[in-house]
Amino acid sequence: MSKVRIYTLAKDLGVDNHKMLEILDGLGVSYKSVSSTIDEENVEIIKQILADEAAEGGDAAPAAASAPAAATAEPEEADETPAAAAQADAEPASDLPHRAPVVTIMGHVDHGKTSLLDYIRKTRVAAKEAGGITQHVGAFEAKTSKGKIVFIDTPGHEAFTTIRARGANVADIAIIVIAADDSLMPQTREAIAHAQAAKVPMLIAINKVDLPQADPEKVKTDLTQLNLVPEEYGGDVIVVPVSAKTGEGVEDLLEYISLTAELEDLRADPKGQFSGVIIEGRVDKQAGVLATVMVQEGTLHVGDFLVVGENYGKIKAMTDSNGGRIKEAGPSTPVQILGFSEVPSSGETVVSAKNEHAAREIVAQRASDRRDEEDARERRKAQRSLADLL
Ligand code: GDP
Ligand code: MG
Repeated sequence: MSKVRIYTLAKDLGVDNHKMLEILDGLGVSYKSVSSTIDEENVEIIKQILADEAAEGGDAAPAAASAPAAATAEPEEADETPAAAAQADAEPASDLPHRAPVVTIMGHVDHGKTSLLDYIRKTRVAAKEAGGITQHVGAFEAKTSKGKIVFIDTPGHEAFTTIRARGANVADIAIIVIAADDSLMPQTREAIAHAQAAKVPMLIAINKVDLPQADPEKVKTDLTQLNLVPEEYGGDVIVVPVSAKTGEGVEDLLEYISLTAELEDLRADPKGQFSGVIIEGRVDKQAGVLATVMVQEGTLHVGDFLVVGENYGKIKAMTDSNGGRIKEAGPSTPVQILGFSEVPSSGETVVSAKNEHAAREIVAQRASDRRDEEDARERRKAQRSLADLL
């Protein structure tokens, strides 16, 4: 009896993965992720449900629960609650528009993070017009057949600050790059721990598979020892072999990112109150202070007042990650902003204010809160040293 992957079936039947998981939940079929397989018997039942639904012209998802053949779970997949299913259940249906996933790439030094980003940028970002200088802005947008994917491109440890900035995650998905000739290294474990602490879904990219000494199987075995069991070993960890040199597997990686993003059901309100996070800040000799901001909610416009920490600024000019001038930017857009007077640090949150007066008020309030806190700390310290003397 042949088996079929959930996302393949969804694609073949022309429904989205969410819908497919809803039907499977209704049938009581357990799965670990959209790349889990289901058997032919269930495929037939699903086709029937969709056909009935089409005939009724209505939403037949609840009817799925009473489908006659109570489907049996795959034995290898019956041991735990599927995380993806829990996710699908928890989110109430939202009317907000979808937004692009924001992806961060982490891993041990020299395992190929920069090379992988460069390969994706080279093949997925439209080249700038001749004469244009592409500046490093700490993020870029890649175009794929499934839509836009935003990659955070900050070196080394800054990737960690952007994955979990002041409690709010910037990244929706973390790619852990592991070189196939080196396997798990200290910074690999650190990256995995960060992604787990931030509860960000992880995809494992085994890089450098083009090398003769590459041993992807060893990487998978080592991962298993960290309780990260690859799908082909019966677990739920997506592992994609890639080469940043030849480009092998990069397409698959992008596909898995899109699938993961679809399951996360990422949405944001472009009309809501603006909020964002600083990806990178620096001083340009000519332009002055430049800050890359990831828009998380709402929309930024040239002329808006922004507050970061105890500083505020007015957006004088905005460029997209490709260097093009833009007037506004919605959710999941990295933008470079001219208008701050101080260089903001990566990971800081950004809010907007109605006007300059309101921006000043927010700053004053924050400064006063900070002073109160400092005073209280000083008093506690004084009390402690007094107690030590007595
Ligand atoms: P990072 O420190 O993780 O950013 O690693 P880099 O991207 O700087 O790569 C480190 C070294 O590995 C460089 O010499 C790259 O050319 C090389 N490298 C990266 N990816 C691959 C790959 O897929 N295959 C091969 N053969 N070499 C790679
Ligand atoms: Mg690098």
